[in-house]
Amino acid sequence: MQIAGIEVTIIRSTRKTVSIFVERDGSLSARVPKEMPKEEIQSVLASKEYQIHKNLAEWATLNETKILREYVSGQSFLYLGRNYRLTLVDDEYDSLVLKNGFFLLPKSKKMAAKGLFKEFYKHKLTEKIQPLIIKFQQKMGVQSNAIRVMELGNRWASCTNKKDLNFHWKCAMAPMNVLHYIIVHELAHLIHDNHSHAFWNTVDKVLPSYHKEKEWLRQYGAQMDL
Ligand SMILES: [Zn+2]
Repeated sequence: MQIAGIEVTIIRSTRKTVSIFVERDGSLSARVPKEMPKEEIQSVLASKEYQIHKNLAEWATLNETKILREYVSGQSFLYLGRNYRLTLVDDEYDSLVLKNGFFLLPKSKKMAAKGLFKEFYKHKLTEKIQPLIIKFQQKMGVQSNAIRVMELGNRWASCTNKKDLNFHWKCAMAPMNVLHYIIVHELAHLIHDNHSHAFWNTVDKVLPSYHKEKEWLRQYGAQMDL
């Protein structure tokens, strides 16, 4: 659907009001009530034109801070909320390693650097989240099924109706407390299949500071990239 010349993806949902949000890639989506007629959506969205422009402008500002990373010595890369500089080394290692506060990459692997970073993040995140999920599941009295770390497009994590939890490998770039929030958020979806007050209450009981972590993701999420 087009609003003021801007394409908006319509997502039908069980919520009762219309909400507009900017996806991580800068495209616009609107959640609308399941039964709302097309004309009504059009007019509600048209009345929110000012908010649409405001949201897009805010997205542009946040994404100015996005860093285009090159795989050269001196470039910094995020891991658990901290920046570590990359150093290209002679072939004493056969893959990317994090050692003494530096990412070390053998020169012969420079062309494969991006893939190796992804592998590193995937591997580390899988390792880090297992014990955290066990801990928070006990606290919250919930039980998930499969846990996967993967490419997840515009989302940090998701919870399927089979109670499988998926996490974007990029979550390995977030600080530990933010990672806690991402996990608790998904575990709370095992109880509430929505973002209702009851859902946020469940999150709040485990992580009373979750507003801070949510805000961190909003501000720095664009930098969590390769
Ligand atoms: Zn959610």
